Amino acid sequence: MCKKQARKAKSYQLFSFLIKSPMATFHCLSSSYYHYKNCNTGFVDFRFKRSSFVVRCERASCCNQGSSCVERDEKRRLRILIAGGGIGGLVLALAAKHRGYDVKVFEKDLSAVRGEGRHRGPIQLLSSALAVLQVIDGNVAKQIMDAGCVTGDRINGVADGVSGKWFIKFNLLNHAMKRGLPVTSVICRMALQDILLNGVGLDIVRNKSKVVDFMQDSNKVTVILEDGQHYDGDVLVGADGIWSKVRSKLFGQEDAKYSDYTCYSGLANFVPHYVDSIGYRVFLGLNQYFVASDVGNGKMQWYAFHKEPPNNTDPPRGKKKRLLNLFGHWCKEVVELISETQEDMILRRDIYDRDMIYTWGIGRVTLLGDAAHPMQPNLGQGGCMAIEDCYQLILELDKVVKSGLDFQQSNEISTMLRRYEKKRMFRISTVHAASRMASKALTAYRPYMEFGSGSLSFMLSQYISSPKITKPSVLVVRAFLQIFMPQFMIWMMAGHGFW
Ligand SMILES: Cc1cc2nc3c(=O)[nH]c(=O)nc-3n(C[C@H](O)[C@H](O)[C@H](O)COP(=O)(O)OP(=O)(O)OC[C@H]3O[C@@H](n4cnc5c(N)ncnc54)[C@H](O)[C@@H]3O)c2cc1C
Repeated sequence: MCKKQARKAKSYQLFSFLIKSPMATFHCLSSSYYHYKNCNTGFVDFRFKRSSFVVRCERASCCNQGSSCVERDEKRRLRILIAGGGIGGLVLALAAKHRGYDVKVFEKDLSAVRGEGRHRGPIQLLSSALAVLQVIDGNVAKQIMDAGCVTGDRINGVADGVSGKWFIKFNLLNHAMKRGLPVTSVICRMALQDILLNGVGLDIVRNKSKVVDFMQDSNKVTVILEDGQHYDGDVLVGADGIWSKVRSKLFGQEDAKYSDYTCYSGLANFVPHYVDSIGYRVFLGLNQYFVASDVGNGKMQWYAFHKEPPNNTDPPRGKKKRLLNLFGHWCKEVVELISETQEDMILRRDIYDRDMIYTWGIGRVTLLGDAAHPMQPNLGQGGCMAIEDCYQLILELDKVVKSGLDFQQSNEISTMLRRYEKKRMFRISTVHAASRMASKALTAYRPYMEFGSGSLSFMLSQYISSPKITKPSVLVVRAFLQIFMPQFMIWMMAGHGFW
């Protein structure tokens, strides 16, 4: 068995151990178990249970025809409308489906989701996000982990872009194992979307369904699609990404913020000699940084960020040349990856985020994922946070269902949505701020003292062949990061306090 297979087998062993071991499972799921225990329903069978309320209005057509809502004998199911079938929308739909809720996902263009995937490359899923997926649907989580590549079992960290020397290293494996969590992995975004989509089912996800508006009153919320169809529900969740229509309808149109960085991404058919020891590495430089990650199957994914104004473009087949100009003097690990990548495997996009908002909804409507809190990708957290949002939201929805109140009459839905937002706010604001801070810190990274061309520079050059003296501030920052960063990474990967 080659080292790679052995590594994957190790991770599967850990995964199956988590699934099989009652202690580990209890540890891993203890908090969710607590929630369900409190709700008087067991973890294993909660997804097969249905709420027992009388249906007042089940079908959109019923309300659309203006008829009054009809009391039915069927069980009343919570009706969840989701705008957007990206990572967040699909994970929430999966959780809702397993609980027997009536869920509909409106996605404007499924092929665009995957096209977008091509642009964005693989996605890193930290232990916390993988653990949420396991709790929501063990089978889907297993498929995701099978299709992914474990990176958390090797050295990950930050290095100087020019010298290649490590600045700081993280140990993601020990902390995941200690907490009984799955190990951080990366997965092709398109594969992730496909697995989630299959899990949810095309009867729930409506393609070519662009949400253009919604209305709400005290009894229901109605979503309006571009083609004029409208659907009623008890809750509307805007999971429609950074350019969210639901968000702009709730809080008004506002421009997204340019991060000051354009991002080139590339996928190389290349196996570097360090692949068995290093998972991902961030290389720092002044006004530019470079992220490289093993993504399995003999491929390496990289992102090259460069500080410049938005909307710049490259001449045809000019991306690789430009990148070699920008990064050509960096360490060989960086230059090698760019050189090994075919021109047509390099893509470019400008990076945007938005300021944090501290209310994500009004009445029966809320937001999750990028619609609520788009963040810069330098910590690789946006998707993970969207997945965690889903879990918090579904836990709050469960409470309303268990309360036995009538979803149409009750203010409880609105109270529950605000509670979900409040519970997520601290973690999300911290990660959002950290992503912006990381971006600022990366911009200012200047590791060596500069002596210009004056007499000091001349004197130094007489005694030192290469007058590179590390700035004292860099040493202080490094010491700070060496203490703070591993703690922060542990906090991020350990999750929201679900376990
Ligand atoms: C370069 C880069 C690298 C990244 N790397 C990572 C990483 O390693 N790890 C990580 O966790 N995150 C990463 N992210 C962030 C991550 O991609 C996002 O945070 C994540 O995709 C958010 O998921 P979402 O479901 O909220 O939104 P999206 O994935 O944007 O999905 C929104 C969906 O809504 C649909 N939609 C939009 N408008 C409408 C409408 N009006 N009606 C119906 N449907 C609509 C869209 O078509 C789309 O399918 C990265 C981002 C970038 C840019």
